Amino acid sequence: MSSAACIFCKIVKGDIPSLKLFESDKVLAFLDINPLSRGHALVIPKHHGEKLTDIPDDALTEILPVVKKLVKASGAENYNVLQNNGRIAHQEVDHVHFHMIPKPNAEEGMSIGWPQQ
Ligand code: C5P
Repeated sequence: MSSAACIFCKIVKGDIPSLKLFESDKVLAFLDINPLSRGHALVIPKHHGEKLTDIPDDALTEILPVVKKLVKASGAENYNVLQNNGRIAHQEVDHVHFHMIPKPNAEEGMSIGWPQQ
């Protein structure tokens, strides 16, 4: 998919609104529109690329510290950090992204759609 048609590139450009949590020259973090728990956030490189191996190294080194900031800000002691690559691995949006999913209690944040087989 080209970056022109990419929904996350549109979020980066501001063409689609998002609730931004962090922004730098290379990285953007925003709340997931369909959260699995309160505070479910996505961290993306601004540069368009589909998968982990497409992220420029200088953006990649910024991403995990941002994930860490979001974890700390959420206050959650239990959380998932996950990153899907390719349809079979449940990637729906073809712009590489890291999920940060706080799991504040046993009732919330359990509905991650892990593969059944
Ligand atoms: O890893 P995967 O590609 O399956 O996850 C895509 C995520 O992007 C979903 O959690 C979905 O809710 C989120 N999304 C979003 N805003 C959009 C489109 C998708 O937060 N406009």
